[in-house]
Amino acid sequence: MMQILVATGNKHKLREVKQILKLRVTGCELRVHENGKTFEANAIKKAKAIKLKPGQIAIADDSGLEVKALNGKPGIKSARFAGPNPTPEKLCTKLLRVMSNVNEVMRIAQFVCVIAIVYPNGEVKTVKGICKGKIIHEMRGERGFGYDPVFVPQGYKKTFAEMSPVMKNRLSHRGRALKKLKELL
Ligand code: IMP
Repeated sequence: MMQILVATGNKHKLREVKQILKLRVTGCELRVHENGKTFEANAIKKAKAIKLKPGQIAIADDSGLEVKALNGKPGIKSARFAGPNPTPEKLCTKLLRVMSNVNEVMRIAQFVCVIAIVYPNGEVKTVKGICKGKIIHEMRGERGFGYDPVFVPQGYKKTFAEMSPVMKNRLSHRGRALKKLKELL
């Protein structure tokens, strides 16, 4: 049985990976400078930073929010949009502030998640998941992390932060990417 190491120090991401994969995974907190220009490049960089022993594979998630009105920003810089180590309140408040004059059409957004897998022989693969939706005008809900309180997935009324974890995982970018990953494992 392969041991799966997840390159993340983000406890929320790790919890979702565990809930969705339903496999035993181990989190590895690493210091990686996320200077890639794409989600793929950053995910691969993080996964490759894990030193593998025989029988282990490494996975890493790089994810973010792309907003139409902001020409796809904050994108790969989503975690740093409101300075280093921001709280969800800070991230959401900043996003709502810069979008205060944006109309409904331009509030369209998508969460993107790319997961890189590094196998013991050095082979690398990536899978991608996207969840389309919109940015609402205020924060709603207490669950989740990051931009969850301001993001409503397409076809739904609740924000990710108002949904049960099971519901979020069913719809989310991470849930979709991990479903593809499961097929590869
Ligand atoms: P990174 O992948 O470590 O660069 O960080 C991605 C950032 O995007 C997170 O810190 C969050 O701010 C945001 N993000 C990614 N996935 C989610 C999600 O499922 N909900 C809310 N915010 C997310």
